[in-house]
Amino acid sequence: MAYDLIVIGSGPGGYSAAIRAGQYGLKTALVEKQAKLGGTCLLVGCIPTKALLHTADVWERVEHSELEGIKLDNPKLDYPKVKERKDGIVNKHSNGVAFLLKRAKVERISGYATLLGAGKVEVKADSGTQTLEAKNIIIATGSEARMLPGLEPDPEFILTNIEILNLTSVPKSLIIIGAGAVGVEFASIFKRFGTEVTVIEMLPRIVPVEDEDISKELERNFRKQNIRVEAGARAENIEKTGTGVKLSLTTKNGKQETLEAEKLLVAVGRKPNTERIGLENTKVELDRGFIKVDEYQRTGEPGVYAIGDAVAGTPQLAHVATREGMIAVAHMAGKPVTPINKNRIPACTYTEPGIGSVGLTEAQARAQDRKVKIGRFPFAGDSRATILGHHEGFIKVVADEEYGEILGVHIIGPEAFELIGEAVAAMEAEATVEVMMQTIHAHPTLYEAMGEAFNAVYGLSINA
Ligand SMILES: Cc1cc2nc3c(=O)[nH]c(=O)nc-3n(C[C@H](O)[C@H](O)[C@H](O)COP(=O)(O)OP(=O)(O)OC[C@H]3O[C@@H](n4cnc5c(N)ncnc54)[C@H](O)[C@@H]3O)c2cc1C
Repeated sequence: MAYDLIVIGSGPGGYSAAIRAGQYGLKTALVEKQAKLGGTCLLVGCIPTKALLHTADVWERVEHSELEGIKLDNPKLDYPKVKERKDGIVNKHSNGVAFLLKRAKVERISGYATLLGAGKVEVKADSGTQTLEAKNIIIATGSEARMLPGLEPDPEFILTNIEILNLTSVPKSLIIIGAGAVGVEFASIFKRFGTEVTVIEMLPRIVPVEDEDISKELERNFRKQNIRVEAGARAENIEKTGTGVKLSLTTKNGKQETLEAEKLLVAVGRKPNTERIGLENTKVELDRGFIKVDEYQRTGEPGVYAIGDAVAGTPQLAHVATREGMIAVAHMAGKPVTPINKNRIPACTYTEPGIGSVGLTEAQARAQDRKVKIGRFPFAGDSRATILGHHEGFIKVVADEEYGEILGVHIIGPEAFELIGEAVAAMEAEATVEVMMQTIHAHPTLYEAMGEAFNAVYGLSINA
């Protein structure tokens, strides 16, 4: 049977693309090798981590409830129950994806897909092998955790995002290698559950893709929370001891130390799933393992598109995968389509304090020879932040001095991941700093701090 579209992979890129194709009336099939739908994001990424982070927030509140005049006798963390809640959220939404696909009349096919070339896809399942044909194919095979050379993940000691999410108790100590979003989020989860956490990053600063001031503020806060941070450091000779792991650390000052912990989390980036999917049978081109695409997500093979974590040139984020899916499907269906503007992709890191950012960092703007003006407003000047008991951090606006163009916004503080939405909308609508200064921000809210940060660009903030 011939389809208009076969989507390979049911992550946020693949399932959203398949649903949109169904909405457009395309005869669509979605192939997924795993029993559950939802990909990395839903099963072992965005959603389970945020469920745990939410519980960590609640637990932190409970532990410090006396600050709010609430006395609790001997509260206890029941981690198996915490995990059960997290698993429940994942299962609910994975079933939700199945329902949405069915409603959009997308055929779900279980098995491992390989491209055979010329619009053909082979699907291998326990029940047998079949060859499907389609006018269009979307590769949405996502990514998996990169490992350090010579290391293999196992359920007990050397963990990736998959194994750590399956732990049934809170480890006493945890070393995390890699301080990108994944590494620092797990640091933020387990520290607050009582684990002794060390974060090791090879680059000179943690969350290295963020604005430098954001990295500094997160590091300062992590240290305050007694998370050990070793940036510009190297971990070597990693070995299992039988009861945990041991490694040698060379700090940024060249000091050598042996570290031991119950668990090690390797969070050194994500490898695209582009091997063993039959790309050699096509004209699809790769760039260091990532699939090369044009602005409509087309690969080098006619009729074959690629989206999400497997693609070169865009950040590995769920909302990017989804947007790329929308672009690919609209393009193949002959609908109006606007390619991604890479400068307007929000990125959120759900640490405590949280991070939300969009656009150019100060350093990037200066490197482009822009006349940069910075507006900065601390959450300490925002009454809602004080009411919530989370007044760490600030909002930093990077603006063009000449025209008041908003080049970037970088937030670290309470609900940063929600607040960044205003900045994304402002940039998408091409609002200037002046427009945002005139925008009335309700009181008392956290997003009032956004208005203040825009005013700060011209030295006109009121509350700081
Ligand atoms: C711990 C963690 C936390 C994260 N948190 C966030 C966050 O808060 N916000 C955010 O935006 N991003 C987050 N991410 C990143 C996000 O998960 C990814 O960007 C997103 O899942 C990419 O979507 P995708 O559709 O490209 O691929 P994936 O979600 O990786 O899905 C790919 C799917 O394809 C299937 N597949 C692969 N090969 C085949 C094959 N040959 N045949 C059939 N099926 C196949 C896989 O089984 C999988 O289901 C996080 C990632 C991790 C690891």
